[in-house]
Formats: sequence, C-alpha cells, structure tokens
Amino acid sequence: MIWKEILIRYGELSTKGKNKKEFITRLRENIRYSFHDIAPLKIRTERDRMHIEIENQEKMDVLMEGLTKVFGIQNFSPVAVCEKDVDSIKDLAIKIMDLYKEKEITFKVEVRRSDKTFPLDSHELQREIGGHVLRNYPNISVNVKKPDVELRIEVRTDAIYMMAQIIQGAGGMPVGSNGKSLLMLSGGIDSPVAGYFLMKRGVRLEAIHFASPPYTSDNSLEKVKDLANELTKFGAKIRLHVIPFTEIQVLIKESVPENVTMTSTRRLMMRIADQVREEIGALGIVTGESLGQVASQTLESLTAINDVTNTPIIRPLIGFDKLEIIEIAEKIGTYETSILPYEDCCTIFTPANPKTKPRVDKVNYYESFTEFDELIDRAVRNREMYLFPEKKPSKDKFADLL
Ligand code: ATP
Ligand code: MG
Repeated sequence: MIWKEILIRYGELSTKGKNKKEFITRLRENIRYSFHDIAPLKIRTERDRMHIEIENQEKMDVLMEGLTKVFGIQNFSPVAVCEKDVDSIKDLAIKIMDLYKEKEITFKVEVRRSDKTFPLDSHELQREIGGHVLRNYPNISVNVKKPDVELRIEVRTDAIYMMAQIIQGAGGMPVGSNGKSLLMLSGGIDSPVAGYFLMKRGVRLEAIHFASPPYTSDNSLEKVKDLANELTKFGAKIRLHVIPFTEIQVLIKESVPENVTMTSTRRLMMRIADQVREEIGALGIVTGESLGQVASQTLESLTAINDVTNTPIIRPLIGFDKLEIIEIAEKIGTYETSILPYEDCCTIFTPANPKTKPRVDKVNYYESFTEFDELIDRAVRNREMYLFPEKKPSKDKFADLL
C-alpha cells in the first residue's frame, strides 16, 4: 500500500479562536471512539489539520468509509510520503497516478514548498513531475482550470507529502463540543433526523422515549433502541431513558375533554422530559416537530406545549417538508428502521378530532382538576435506562496470560 497517513482538514473549527484547542482534542477523542475496533490509532494534531497513520489496508478501508460520518471534519485525503529527492518524487507520482490508468482523465500538479532550501522551486518541480507523468500515461492530459485529479505535492522540512484525492467530510462540529441536550425520540421518521442535526452542531445527546405498555409492544421499544443505537454512529454514546407512560395517558383521557387529550399528552411528556433533562444536566429539549405537519404541530399547539417550561425547546425540523425529512433519514440511515410498522403511544390515544388551535388558558384550566405531579415523579423515578452502543463482550486483554 502506498498510503502512509490520512490527512484531515477541520473546516469550521478553524474559525473558533481560543476554543480551537478544545475542539481539536474533542475531535481526536471522537475519532478514537468511533474507530475503537481498529485501535490503537496513531493520531497527530496540528493547528489546522490532523494526521492518522495507517499501517495496513484494513485500517485504510475502515477509516476511508467511517471518517465521512464524523462531525467536525471538512474533508480528508490519503497521503503518501517519500524522500526529498526528485527521483523519489517521480516514482511516487507514478505510483499514485497508476490508480487512474484505466480511464481517460485530466490532471494537474500543484506544488506547495514550505522548505525553501529544496533545490527546485515550485514551478520547476511542477513541470518536472507533470512532464514525467504525461510521458508515462498516454491516457492522462493536462487541465489546469478543472482537472479530474489534482496531484498535490508538499515539500516540507521532514519529507515530501503527496495526495490526489479530497473526500468530503460530514462538516459540523465534534459531538460534545457544544454541550448536551435531551432528544424526544418517538420511533417515527422525524425525531432521529432532529437528533442528527443537533449532533452535527456538536451537541451530545441523551434520548427520552415514552412507552405505554401494553398498548405499545416490546417491538416498538426495540425499534426505538435501534434508532438510538444508529445515532451513535455519528460519534458519541447515547443514553436512552424509557418512561412508563401508560398510567398518565389513561389519566389524561379521563381528565380532559377528548379534543384536548393530544395537547395535554404533549404537555405532560414535556414536563417529564424537563425533569429528566434537569437531572442529567442537559440544557435543551429537542423534538422532531415540523410546523403544520399534524394537529399538535401548529403554532397554537406549540405555544400550549411550550407553556409548561422555560427550557429551550429546539425544533431543528420546523421548516422542513416531510419529503425533505425522509430524504435526510435515508441518507443518514435511520429511515428503514423508522418505517417498521409498530404502534406509537400517541397514535393509540389519538382522538378523532384533536384541537388544532388549543388555547393555553383553557388547557391549563382543564388540567387544573387533576393532580399530575406525583405521577410525573413516579414515571421519572421508574424509568429504565439503556446505554448505546451496547457493550460488546470485551475480549479479555489478559486471556492469553491465564
Ligand atoms: P416522528 O417521526 O418523530 O414520530 P411525527 O411526525 O410522528 O414525528 P409526532 O408523533 O406528532 O410527530 O411527534 C412529534 C415529536 O414529539 C416527535 O418528533 C418526538 O420528538 C416527540 N414524540 C412523540 N411521541 C413520542 C414518544 N412516544 N416518545 C418520545 N418522544 C415523542
Ligand atoms: Mg411520532
């Protein structure tokens, strides 16, 4: 294998002033976490880029595929290294361009020379290497404006670095660099996408799910667990809190007029979520709501839901159409799980004609006859927690010695 390392460029991190060091440390930790299967990784960081050494093809394949999912990476390139003499540079250029020998392509050579003592200047080296490649590969021609392949040669003090490919990263910021929020994860299409957007901006997530057994089944809970697990692929662990919600849903049905049960259900979910949020030290609550999608997602409904807390409620999908959300769900790999046909606690208790424009004062009035506080405390206390990714049975490091 000709590649020696993968070079990572940070993107938006570069503008972060004094937080930069912390961001870079976080990105390095997240990379180590995402690729613990191929540990140990030798990672070297610089102000504006990071290098991961690659010792074999397997590591290379895993990294090339997985790095596209890690937030905080603008793009990355496999890099080859050689001695600082013209013949070695020519040999390496030929080896790299050999990867493109099957097709008709255009290329150009771009030289960066930070070591000014190197005998050839950038233009001379560019001409020398360009000419050599063209003589060896009749299928390759030059295009300086928009080449298919840009062969980039960096002349540094320690060695020559060469690369030909720039792979687009996921952008965003390293998960964990922007605090923590609690995601309301329903098992539908929208909420995992909402969680994805928060992770993309560097937010660590915990998730909360409301289950109403026996009206909702083990299968629907499994589906939610799968979704939480899928979100961990974007570079961080996720703890899922499952709230026993049956008792409260039944009480809501008995307590308020049928057409406001939906609004009250959302409000009680929010009160419980807020209590859990406070316990875990998260700063916001994230939902998959999108304006006007269903009765509970009109501005009036959202106002009635927001009324139960001062905590920021973050709705990253508010302006998205359903089809746009589906497209993203497909792209991030949650769609297939989301569409599995298991019941949701809300669909089961959904009234025939939910109010689309509930009035806050009226909802408050209807709910005022019922004591929910104790039930809320109990639901929070009796929640079950799961950590994802689930721990695999770890290979015992010392097994050989016993
Ligand atoms: P989704 O695809 O996320 O289920 P939806 O279009 O079905 O969204 P609703 O069922 O109205 O919308 O839910 C709106 C939001 O409320 C969800 O995106 C989620 O954040 C939250 N939510 C709904 N049901 C639950 C639940 N059982 N547990 C946790 N959160 C929920
Ligand atoms: Mg739903």
